[in-house]
Amino acid sequence: MPVTVRNFAEAGEAERALAASRTARFFGGGTLIMRAVNAGDQSFDTIVRTTDPRLRQMEMRGDMLVIGAGVTMAEIIANRDTAFLAPVARVIGGPAIRSMATVGGNLFAASPYGDFAAALLALDARLVPANGQPISIGDFLNSREREQGRIILSVQVPRPREARAFRFLKVSRVKPKGISLMSIAAHLPTQGGRVTSARIAYGAMGERPLRALAVEQALEGRSLDEAGIAQALAVATDGITPPTDALASEWYRRSVAPVHLKRLLLDHRK
Ligand SMILES: Cc1cc2nc3c(=O)[nH]c(=O)nc-3n(C[C@H](O)[C@H](O)[C@H](O)COP(=O)(O)OP(=O)(O)OC[C@H]3O[C@@H](n4cnc5c(N)ncnc54)[C@H](O)[C@@H]3O)c2cc1C
Repeated sequence: MPVTVRNFAEAGEAERALAASRTARFFGGGTLIMRAVNAGDQSFDTIVRTTDPRLRQMEMRGDMLVIGAGVTMAEIIANRDTAFLAPVARVIGGPAIRSMATVGGNLFAASPYGDFAAALLALDARLVPANGQPISIGDFLNSREREQGRIILSVQVPRPREARAFRFLKVSRVKPKGISLMSIAAHLPTQGGRVTSARIAYGAMGERPLRALAVEQALEGRSLDEAGIAQALAVATDGITPPTDALASEWYRRSVAPVHLKRLLLDHRK
């Protein structure tokens, strides 16, 4: 089936074209969309693109970093303002993928992909659609299938106050370009050496990136040492049903989750 490409100067226009057709797909960097085209995916016959400059912008607004959804992983690595996110972007695919893969596309990438989305979930980012009000990333991920007709313009990311408060760990069997069998992103603000309002997100541990709420609760008021994190490790997969797929079984994911969580919380990531 031939695929028609429609290009729009403004994202709102592109979104209307997208919403008007069930067989249209938005094109970010194309790493997944073009793979589907090449594999002969018959579920869409139209690709919608936009050259709207807002998708390519990056700016600081106070403590808030605004990242255009069309910004690529390679650009995240290269920009000083996004240095705290570079360790996440650096482990997404290989160099060719990183030069195309966008922040917006990662939000929609099916598990086990979505490493960057997991990081944004831990950071409590908000997503700005082309039409409509900003939405929290948690709400977005919970209703992601219903968001397919929408175009995300940008992502608002609160910058961690201390650099060490944000941590990310990707666990894969093939180094350096393997897909995650699990990724963990943590925002761990502290006051007087005690964790306060931690946010922990897992990638590849469910259909979409999800928060480890039991771990967050167990860390509240604790110090980040062996004794302080013991309860958090004990509940590492409480309330979570990890998938069994070609990379790992549910049992394996449950077994290794506390080991990797411990490395991340004690900052022994090497
Ligand atoms: C070899 C290979 C290795 C990979 N490794 C990893 C990895 O290690 N970690 C990882 O997380 N991912 C990985 N990926 C998956 C993918 O490359 C990334 O998730 C990437 O960020 C997807 O972005 P994209 O711009 O290429 O998406 P596209 O292919 O352009 O689009 C993907 C989906 O997102 C939608 N979309 C894109 N942008 C927007 C937007 N602004 N608004 C609304 N919808 C949008 C599209 O309509 C489509 O449904 C890999 C892919 C490949 C092919």
